[in-house]
Amino acid sequence: RASFRRDPAYLRFQQEFREEAQHRLGIEKALRTTLAFTPEHLVVVYQPIIALSDRRVVGFEALVRWNDPERGLMLPGDFIPIAEESDLIEQVGGHVIDAAIREVAAAVWADDVFLSINLSSRELCDADLAPRLAALCDEVGMDPRRLRIEVTETGFAVDGDVMAAAAGQLRAVGIGVFLDDFGSGQSSLSRLVGLPATGIKTPCEFVRNVEERSDVQALLSCVVALAGARGVDVVIEGIENAAQEKAVADSGAELVQGFLYGRPAPLSDFASSLVLSGH
Ligand code: C2E
Ligand code: MG
Ligand code: MG
Ligand code: MG
Repeated sequence: RASFRRDPAYLRFQQEFREEAQHRLGIEKALRTTLAFTPEHLVVVYQPIIALSDRRVVGFEALVRWNDPERGLMLPGDFIPIAEESDLIEQVGGHVIDAAIREVAAAVWADDVFLSINLSSRELCDADLAPRLAALCDEVGMDPRRLRIEVTETGFAVDGDVMAAAAGQLRAVGIGVFLDDFGSGQSSLSRLVGLPATGIKTPCEFVRNVEERSDVQALLSCVVALAGARGVDVVIEGIENAAQEKAVADSGAELVQGFLYGRPAPLSDFASSLVLSGH
């Protein structure tokens, strides 16, 4: 009797599964070593957030990169999910928070702009987060009202009440809370009603086809109107060309982010260009 265990498809699946597990373990181990001995290999880059009306840079989103001598430059997608499943995400987040807040606070030319930091839902729920951020802001002389925490919606699915409480604690010390990739999950609308968020960010996919598709245009307008009705800010992410910008402007959005305005780069790259030239 033939066993499924000898089925070539099964064997191939098993092999791939084993390789994937080994790959993840390798990343986890290397990340643990990096955090312990060479945390400076975790680099923070910044992407500008722009106000459409005057084309001014109003904020920066901090995005982590991992410069590993062996593996080369890695994007968050290569290691953040693995860090989230292990106990490492708090350490990664702690490093990014510390580095980004200190760097932006020290950049006097960026005095007026806000700083947006991505955190996983688990980090948001750390009861220590709000006091820690407040203490760090105090130490470096940064107004906590310049700080925003971005959390992806999937993260919010963990436990709505705990999340809401955590968001409330951040707001109590003046820190903004943004729902990232709003609209890519399942319960966007109810989430927004239930959470004390100060803003939302739409996923890059929202603007990808907006030039050709009137339904996508309608979706954008709808999200902008919803944010307006809730009294929260909205940032449209992922704008790569002028046609997309036009569509986004037509939707009534004011805050935008995307390769058209600037790719994620070292903070100092933006020191001389807080106002973009028109086109
Ligand atoms: P996100 O927070 O939604 O960040 C936006 C992502 O879209 C970034 O990718 C950014 O480089 C990319 N992007 C920006 N403008 C454009 C555009 O015009 N076109 C396209 N195609 N892409 C654009 P990145 O840096 O690879 O980050 C991916 C995700 O990893 C982030 O999504 C965020 O959820 C997560 N992440 C990044 N840094 C951190 C961090 O320090 N901690 C945690 N927990 N997560 C992070
Ligand atoms: Mg983000
Ligand atoms: Mg973003
Ligand atoms: Mg996003």
